[in-house]
This record gives sequence, C-alpha cells and structure tokens, in this order.
Amino acid sequence: MAETRATCKRCQATMTLQSVDPVCGQHGVLKVTLLQLPALVCPNMHMRFAVPDFPALLLERLAGEDMTKVPAGEKRGLLFKHYHCGACGSKLGSGEAREDTFDFDIALKDLSPFRVELTLPLYQCPACGKEQIRSLPELRKLVAPAMAHAFEAAGLHPR
Ligand SMILES: [Zn+2]
Ligand SMILES: [Zn+2]
Repeated sequence: MAETRATCKRCQATMTLQSVDPVCGQHGVLKVTLLQLPALVCPNMHMRFAVPDFPALLLERLAGEDMTKVPAGEKRGLLFKHYHCGACGSKLGSGEAREDTFDFDIALKDLSPFRVELTLPLYQCPACGKEQIRSLPELRKLVAPAMAHAFEAAGLHPR
C-alpha cells in the first residue's frame, strides 16, 4: 500500500501524496519524461518515491509488456553489427533518423495513474518504409539510466 502522508526526513514537515510534473532525464539517444508522477512532497519541495520500490516496479512494467509495443528492428552480426527491419528483414540504413515519442499510461499498485514518454530516434526501412527503433534490447539498456537521471534531476529519493 502507498502511504498518503509521511514525515519529511530532511525538514520534518508533513509530506503528502501529489502528482509531480514533469520529471525528465536522458541517457544516450533516449529521453524519458514522466507526467503526473505520484510522489510524496513536503511544503519545502523535498520529494520521496510514493513507494520505496517505485523505480523497480516502474522499470519492470515498462521494460516488460509496454516496450514491446515500440516497433523495433533487429541487431545482427557479432563483429560488424548491423540492423535489420523488424517487418521485412531488409538491412536498415545508418542514415537519417526522425525523433518520435511513445506514450505509456501506467498505474502502479494503488497509486494514481501517470504517463511515461519515451522519445527516441526512428529509422525508416528503405525497402518497406516501416519506421522503427534499431533494437529493443538496446532501448531496454538505456531506460534504467535515463530514468535514474530523471529522478536525480527532480530530487526524488527513496526515503
Ligand atoms: Zn522537507
Ligand atoms: Zn522493412
């Protein structure tokens, strides 16, 4: 269960559960934006996660079912890595990418729902025209550090 009130460990004021907006971070090509993020906030704007394992729960949720909705190519090759279209298998060019944002509406435990936006470059397949990210495993590796930067920048702490 999420606490709705707590005592701030830094200034002893009462923290209440609020929706914080926006919380942003970046790692590599990935930008993460969290909107209406539920967090415990005191009147002096000290912040704490709504539940201690919030980042772990969020990552688990995002990296699981949610991220598979992002159209993705496939990385092949051991020494010389290249990317192939997830739809038709043609080789993806290393040329121009267009940045796009994918939204995920997430509700964790009994907290109010919030939105996660992932902004990243999409590459168009020269053969079938499908736009996609290069590789889902590569994206998964960027999510945790991008999220950590976002929480750090917002001053969000586990306790
Ligand atoms: Zn405080
Ligand atoms: Zn294709």
